Amino acid sequence: YVAKRANSGLALYDERHDDNGAERLSLMSELRQAVEHDQLMLYYQPKVDLATHTVKFVEALVRWDHPTRGYVSPDQFIPFAEQTGYIKAISHWVAEQAIRQCAAWRAEGIELAVSVNVSARELIQSSLPDTFSALLKKYGVPAEMLWIEITESAIMDDPNHAIQTLDRLHALGIRLAIDDFGTGYSSLSYLKRMPVDELKIDKSFVMGMVLHRDDETIVRSTIDLAHNMGLKVVAEGVESEFVMRRLAELRCDLAQGFHLSRPLPPSKLEDWLREWRCVNGVSCFGVDRSS
Ligand code: C2E
Ligand code: MG
Ligand code: MG
Ligand code: MG
Repeated sequence: YVAKRANSGLALYDERHDDNGAERLSLMSELRQAVEHDQLMLYYQPKVDLATHTVKFVEALVRWDHPTRGYVSPDQFIPFAEQTGYIKAISHWVAEQAIRQCAAWRAEGIELAVSVNVSARELIQSSLPDTFSALLKKYGVPAEMLWIEITESAIMDDPNHAIQTLDRLHALGIRLAIDDFGTGYSSLSYLKRMPVDELKIDKSFVMGMVLHRDDETIVRSTIDLAHNMGLKVVAEGVESEFVMRRLAELRCDLAQGFHLSRPLPPSKLEDWLREWRCVNGVSCFGVDRSS
């Protein structure tokens, strides 16, 4: 069930009490209000290129600033939203915010491709490519600037349907990343059939690398697998300099994690980028303007 798995222990929703119609109704209306009353926020976490130290990619992660429950993590309301179908409204809000933000950054000369997380339920919706395509047009953002992240299990729920949608998204120019790679059950033959651009190694393996040889073996093998298939590879959950250096040695392409930056609201991310650029002499502007 959803709530206990998350770290705050907030009992937001418990699947075992699925019959509690009143609680569900209340949560439903709270979620609706969240979208209508601007209680949702998008934070952005950078992905750092381990070879050049440039930052050209960020991941959008939704947050719910609830008036009485406080900060509610997406792990606590996305699964509920998926079950109730309200995910559609949230996803539309997320996609529009992310694309609008991408356009705003571009207008300031900041080139950042933005990735959004897409859940299983949306993936099998045939309207997803049309929705994205309309939003990209509305804000004048090239499709190549938009990435979507999907988990293996989201694909394996209904592989044929999922692959159809992914093919259509890819035909538009939208890039695809497999999130939490290695944790779901997936078949490598599906990986071969899908228009994937990037694998994201799940943070459990990356965080375990320091202590467990098996985790490092999994990380190393995933990097090799990705490269042998012509894919980029990202390590998520990079929490130390040690892990970052090791990943660079293993030729991992990109790193994401608290050691580099937590997910941040847009203005804070811009501050972080400025500082990053000062220290590293490189930037998301693609050229070295520090000298
Ligand atoms: P994810 O896409 O795998 O995102 C990575 C999660 O790991 C994020 O949690 C991020 O804050 C956290 N993280 C990043 N770096 C580190 C690190 O160094 N150490 C640790 N311990 N954690 C790190 P968050 O933001 O709570 O999101 C949780 C999950 O909720 C996401 O996992 C994603 O599956 C889902 N999610 C988030 N936003 C959306 C959304 O807009 N739509 C959908 N459908 N799902 C979303
Ligand atoms: Mg993700
Ligand atoms: Mg992940
Ligand atoms: Mg995850």
